[in-house]
Amino acid sequence: MPTQPNYLRIATEEAFAPPELIARYRKLLNDGYDDPGFRSLWGFYSGSSPRATALAERIQDLGERRLRDMDDSGIAMQILSLTAPGVQVFDAPEATALARSFNDQLSEAILKRPDRFSGLAAIAPQDPTGAAKELERGVRQLGLKGAIINSHTRGEYLDDSKFWPIFEAAEHLNVPVYIHPTTPPKSMIGPFIERGLDGAIFGFAVETGLHLLRVIVSGVFDRFPKLRIVVGHLGEGLPYWLFRIDFMHRAMVKANRYASVQKLQKQPSDYIKENVYVTTSGMAWEPPILYAQSVLGVDRVLYAMDYPYQFVPEEVQVTDNLPISDADKEKLYQTNAEQVFSL
Ligand code: CA
Repeated sequence: MPTQPNYLRIATEEAFAPPELIARYRKLLNDGYDDPGFRSLWGFYSGSSPRATALAERIQDLGERRLRDMDDSGIAMQILSLTAPGVQVFDAPEATALARSFNDQLSEAILKRPDRFSGLAAIAPQDPTGAAKELERGVRQLGLKGAIINSHTRGEYLDDSKFWPIFEAAEHLNVPVYIHPTTPPKSMIGPFIERGLDGAIFGFAVETGLHLLRVIVSGVFDRFPKLRIVVGHLGEGLPYWLFRIDFMHRAMVKANRYASVQKLQKQPSDYIKENVYVTTSGMAWEPPILYAQSVLGVDRVLYAMDYPYQFVPEEVQVTDNLPISDADKEKLYQTNAEQVFSL
């Protein structure tokens, strides 16, 4: 177990899955649900391989097993969220009912150990108004700290204004929306899955980075200037692209090349620096963590482990050993999360 420093290690993108969710995923698979990404991801994780079995044990536990792993890796608190693809693969009424039930279960687990667990509300974007209501219930009645949306919902993206009641609610409640990866939709997944690149290795980041970029260029942050979005994996590649995105967006607006590309109040990179927070989930590697801090600011980068998908306790040491001041480590591990999620 790593030595205890002066800061608390708060891990901000940590997954759970109630047994009922996994059972419903199995049923979808058996019923022939036509989403190659879902079949690839949960066909594997609902299977009987050693990795799938170990994952299944950990991800369903919201008690002692999880706390032991947190102790062993020096994690003081996990911010829990319903694993991908959440309830977003179900029909709207089923998804809405399941989100409600899972949020109740999450809140019970948090109430038992409020010193160790916090969490985000699962919502069903299939019913945008219902999702906004469930977010409000989750925050106001259950004490949850924001919403988790596992990227696209059956191939649809949050830049579609029909989903904006969710952003309106999040802004009004002053809570963030965490856009977490899922596998690329059927319309996109072909070239990824042919080489096994549809999942966390790359497909997740491409799909989720695209999702955030769609949200930005659609003008969501001009409409909801106080909205905060969190993404994992150090920004899903986007921080590396800021210069080119700004340059090309400017050129495209000037050329009036696409009806869908309109001038924004700010440059795309400004929204990433002002409305977006990134977490280190699954990216325990010094160079890109320092890079993200340098281009986005030390207040914008939060620690995450990506438990239980990437439970490698030694990786905490990488973050502990970053060549940054103790004050900046405290921001990375603790105080940024406390501020973003109002802990
Ligand atoms: Ca994750």
